[in-house]
Amino acid sequence: MTASETLDWEVLLDRLGEFYHAGDWRVPYLRDHAEDPFQVLIGTILSQRTRDENTDRASARLFAKYPDARSLAKASAKQIEPLIRETGFYHTKAKGIHNCAREILDRFGGVVPQTLEELLTLPSVGPKTANCVLVFGYGIPGMPVDTHVHRISNRLGVVRTRTPEETEAALRAVVPERYWIPVNPVLVQHGQNLCGPYRPRCEACPIATLCATGRALAEGRNPPRPQDRPPKDRRPNAVGPRPKAKPRRRPVR
Ligand code: SF4
Repeated sequence: MTASETLDWEVLLDRLGEFYHAGDWRVPYLRDHAEDPFQVLIGTILSQRTRDENTDRASARLFAKYPDARSLAKASAKQIEPLIRETGFYHTKAKGIHNCAREILDRFGGVVPQTLEELLTLPSVGPKTANCVLVFGYGIPGMPVDTHVHRISNRLGVVRTRTPEETEAALRAVVPERYWIPVNPVLVQHGQNLCGPYRPRCEACPIATLCATGRALAEGRNPPRPQDRPPKDRRPNAVGPRPKAKPRRRPVR
């Protein structure tokens, strides 16, 4: 049996939800309180390669002036740029979100589409953004995979993938659909805290017993990802002091 077949997603979501005080993931909160799909879409494009605080401030400024596809489509890229400057790559992003708003207006009557296939036809919209719109904009099950979800899924041992796109397809196959909506927010939070990119803090992790990496490191075995191996002298099975370097012999003259 593989790790993906044995992982109990319900227990994983319970433990992480409790650890981060995220509330009960079983309550279909997003279905009742989904955010404005247009603002989720544009906000996710703005969030690419920047920090959450920058996205939040830029989004607030942008939506105060252009709250929907109709108003944003009428603005020029030059009018948009100063509002989103702090998110970086603002020339490209301004052009991208303007074109996106135009297409939503022209092709979908100003309403953000609700299918992955249609969303992926919009400019600047990739798989992660399209899935975010489904989950956070419409409360429809989707699988947004960013760098955190990709990394943690591989550490858990439920997928063995090289890119977020491969991870999305693999997770769709192994995670029961009733868990899709809470998976992203919970794993992103975990990735921003204990399960960061460079040194996961498995000793403090509430899901270490469910995780292939946590179990392997505790038992002194190799984890699924070679880059998660600790340095040799810090492995649990390492005994004794570090071996001294051999003294260099003086060259004979
Ligand atoms: S046990 Fe370690 S690698 Fe696994 S989820 Fe927890 S922090 Fe990440």
